[in-house]
Amino acid sequence: MGKKDVEVKQFKTESKRLLDLMINSIYTNKEIFLRELISNASDAIDKYHYLSLTNDVLPNKNDYEIDLSFDEKKRTITIKDNGIGMTYDELNDSLGTIAKSGSLEFMEKIKNEKNSEQGDVNIIGQFGVGFYSAFMVANKVEVRTRSLFDESGYLFVSSGEETYELSKIDKEDSGTEITLYLRKNEKIKKDSEDENLSDVEYDYDHFLDEWTLKNLVKQYSDYVRYPIKMEVTKSVLEEGSKDKYIDKKEIETLNSMIPIWKKNKNDVSDEEYNYFYMNKFYDYKNPLLHMIFNVEGKIEYTALLYIPSEAPYNLYSEKYEKGLQLYSKGVFIMDKCKELLPDYLRFVKGIVDSNDLDLNISREMLQKSRDLQIIANNIEKKVVSKLENLLKNERDKYLDFYKAFGINLKFGVYDNFGEKKELLKDLILYKTVNKDDYVSLSEYVNEMKEGQEFIYYASGKSREAVLAMPQMDVIKKKGYDVLILSDDVDEFLMNVLGEYDKKKFKSVNQGDLDLLDKEEEKKIQELAEQKKPMLDAIKEALKGEVDDVILSKRLTDSAVCLVSGDGVSFEMEKVLKSMPNGENSEAKANKILEINPNHELFKALENIYIDNPVELNNYADLLYSQALLMEGFKLKDPVAFSNKMCDLIIKSSK
Ligand code: ADP
Ligand code: MG
Repeated sequence: MGKKDVEVKQFKTESKRLLDLMINSIYTNKEIFLRELISNASDAIDKYHYLSLTNDVLPNKNDYEIDLSFDEKKRTITIKDNGIGMTYDELNDSLGTIAKSGSLEFMEKIKNEKNSEQGDVNIIGQFGVGFYSAFMVANKVEVRTRSLFDESGYLFVSSGEETYELSKIDKEDSGTEITLYLRKNEKIKKDSEDENLSDVEYDYDHFLDEWTLKNLVKQYSDYVRYPIKMEVTKSVLEEGSKDKYIDKKEIETLNSMIPIWKKNKNDVSDEEYNYFYMNKFYDYKNPLLHMIFNVEGKIEYTALLYIPSEAPYNLYSEKYEKGLQLYSKGVFIMDKCKELLPDYLRFVKGIVDSNDLDLNISREMLQKSRDLQIIANNIEKKVVSKLENLLKNERDKYLDFYKAFGINLKFGVYDNFGEKKELLKDLILYKTVNKDDYVSLSEYVNEMKEGQEFIYYASGKSREAVLAMPQMDVIKKKGYDVLILSDDVDEFLMNVLGEYDKKKFKSVNQGDLDLLDKEEEKKIQELAEQKKPMLDAIKEALKGEVDDVILSKRLTDSAVCLVSGDGVSFEMEKVLKSMPNGENSEAKANKILEINPNHELFKALENIYIDNPVELNNYADLLYSQALLMEGFKLKDPVAFSNKMCDLIIKSSK
């Protein structure tokens, strides 16, 4: 491209749609455009600074700054930085396309959500589309930029329509200058069905004001570590005069530049910490809590950590990147240092600033850095102990946390064969059938009944579902409490934990449940000997389906139930089958059909066995199908089951 040539380029389709969104946005806090552009400027200076520290050829600079200016007549606002700038390709890649996939979809979703016009656009920066927010207030944007690695500068001009224009320009130093041509004040029609939202008049003029801009910088960009300078008018005493004031223009730095984590804790209010969080991590809700600590000693660092109040929409998707922002001596090193957080704390946000890390450290070296590992271990312990405190002292808050993020802790216990189980087991809560509220394992154990040997659990969607399980009969009679397991990982977790406070975990529908007194037990054993031929006949009828047919010690009211042997449980079998490629899973639960010897059905079976042993096959099959259904299994042949039921009804009416 020669000088003066103007190249007209098409925005990528995604970008175009996003631009439309921005241009037609009815969001009320359009002011965040300034924060986004300043944060880009600051990022660009960060990149320059980082290079200059790690690369001998590049001269060190100490005049980093972001200049802010406005022109009332031309209705422009200009943000200028002396950072790294953009090459021709970078301009196209960064401003002509959306780099992060999924960003557009999310922005559109926000737009379509009711009542979202208030705050949600705030999170725009999270999606790598901050630059486009300029079009919320401007009908034309000019970007003048020159990369540190380029001979020439470039001008990018766009009115947010189909195309943008690129041309070569002279620009002396590296850096970027962005000029916004503000829109005329306008009535914005709210395209919402909500009658409460009337059309609003939007006033763009108010941005062309010293006081407004100053305040926006204070509010959103105070902690930016480079000076944000603007020419301001000050009233000063005229020289020689005692009472005559005149206006004087002066360049002022608008931001304090001290990173919030470097300020004295006592000088920073909770609101300020929250504000920093919302701005830095693009959340429109206050965090659930923050923690800040200075660690001194062999390795010194400061950490400012947050737990959000809600899980981000993509926390459990593969695209989610965990990590903390890493600084060394106040110099930004990387955005998401994943080595600093174990997987189960992936939801934690924050920054770590250490004096002991080498700036020159590469990503590969970082992974092996012992210092970083020490910091990471330390952070993990601090977060866990903060959570323990929360559970102890602010239970309601902990419950809010647990509902949002508890599943992560469960995986934390389960992962790596329970490597972290000792650390985390006291943070795990379950609802129970007796309480219908969350209890910790230690609370469960403390309330165990006299003579109760095990910690009982059952998998079920709800308390009602668990209470309705036939396998719960004898436990209900005893009044024992039962943990309600509702997440896929739960039974695996029980297996990994094995026991708590020397009390073993026990599933209500797995293995033996020896809760009868000696006498009752003996009776059932004798009966089982006596009725062995019949039980064997049923077993034979269900050959290949069940592993055993026995008289139940756990049923008191229900007629039959299915339980699994020790090892793989029904729930585990279901979970494993539902995993990718799980269809071929070898893991299979042993199925044991239990029959209640005190139920009328048992007598009926006996009669059938004596009168018409052939018929017993059909009944055995019916019983087994019922038991399967109660356990939530699918029947292999539902039609055959239905036909048998029909035959039975017809027969009984004759
Ligand atoms: P994000 O900052 O999340 O990457 P933006 O839409 O805010 O998304 O910016 C897109 C990209 O444009 C940036 O990543 C950067 O590469 C480039 N960019 C924007 N502003 C500047 C600037 N002032 N200097 C250099 N590069 C910039
Ligand atoms: Mg940005």
